Amino acid sequence: MPHDLHSSEADEGLALLIDKLCRTRSLSLGEYERLIAQRTPGTARELASRADAVRRQVYGTKVFTRGLIEVSSFCKNDCLYCGIRRSNATARRYRLSADEIVKCADTGYDLGFRTFVLQGGEDTFFTDDVLCGIIGRIRAAHPDCAVTLSFGERSRKSYERLHEAGAERYLLRHEAASPALYRRWHPPEMSLENRMRCLSDLREIGYAVGAGFMVGAPFQTAADLACDLRFIERFQPEMCGIGPFIPQKDTPFGDRPAGTAEQTVYLLSLLRLMQPKLLLPATTALGTILPDGRERGLAAGANVVMPNLSPLSVRKKYALYDGKLCTGEEAAQCIGCLSRRVQSVGANIVIDRGDVKS
Ligand code: SAH
Repeated sequence: MPHDLHSSEADEGLALLIDKLCRTRSLSLGEYERLIAQRTPGTARELASRADAVRRQVYGTKVFTRGLIEVSSFCKNDCLYCGIRRSNATARRYRLSADEIVKCADTGYDLGFRTFVLQGGEDTFFTDDVLCGIIGRIRAAHPDCAVTLSFGERSRKSYERLHEAGAERYLLRHEAASPALYRRWHPPEMSLENRMRCLSDLREIGYAVGAGFMVGAPFQTAADLACDLRFIERFQPEMCGIGPFIPQKDTPFGDRPAGTAEQTVYLLSLLRLMQPKLLLPATTALGTILPDGRERGLAAGANVVMPNLSPLSVRKKYALYDGKLCTGEEAAQCIGCLSRRVQSVGANIVIDRGDVKS
């Protein structure tokens, strides 16, 4: 079609880059930036189908689940995008007891979960002793399960103790690999340097590590996202969690536009092609921004879902952003709904720890 000439020429340029990515699993910063900045519906479709094929080659039709237990909405940090930042005086704070956390894991086990992710704000109540006790109880009750932690930045010593207590995985999104952008999203007392120190400590100690970033958050450009992809390419985490930024109205970014599902899904596909074995969740944020966002993510390279196992009474209080999905449903309902969604894209939730393929 003559009127399509320009766009199809551009698409061809991108198609060559996609070929190169599939062959070499690596692009230059500038090439990543072009792929991101010049996204068209055509290239997105092409990328998604290639990423879907790669996911199927590596993981077949299996989709792994992780049961998310949101243990505390107290946080000493003040990240500008996050609804549970310490400066948010309207945030409702709660903290689960050790018994409540263990009970969530027990319920999750009966529902078929073999991995539990304990996540929370940086709540000083959760000292190493407290966390080691909880990890030990879950591991003793369910030795066939993996315990994953996501409690932000801690000392190397602390990560070591938690690992010895039986935590095998740690999720710590790097948030933004571009130093200038990282500074705009965080208060002066936080630094990208320390975030990176944590990630390398976790790796050295022997954790399976999950990095990750938000998509479409304030001030973020295609060049910034290219930095994120290059970081992932170099660091080679076991998992990479990405989701659209969604504003929370009582934060400094509360009136900013949300990121889009299209850009998030596109980045999921790029990540799958860069690192075929990567564990890639179709996140709750993606499902929040678009009703079938998680299905689209799963059809474009994602292979993990993380349903919420937190008690109903606290779900609404873990409000990182507004409009969060599944705050009114029991865990069992969530897993039923999610199983149907996963099946709708020709995949199946499996009862498995869901380790990264070696
Ligand atoms: N305290 C832990 C857990 C943070 S919450 C830590 O520091 O790692 C988990 C993730 O939610 C964050 O890493 C961030 O990427 C994401 N998040 C926070 N606020 C968000 C928002 N407004 N929109 C989308 N994602 C958000």
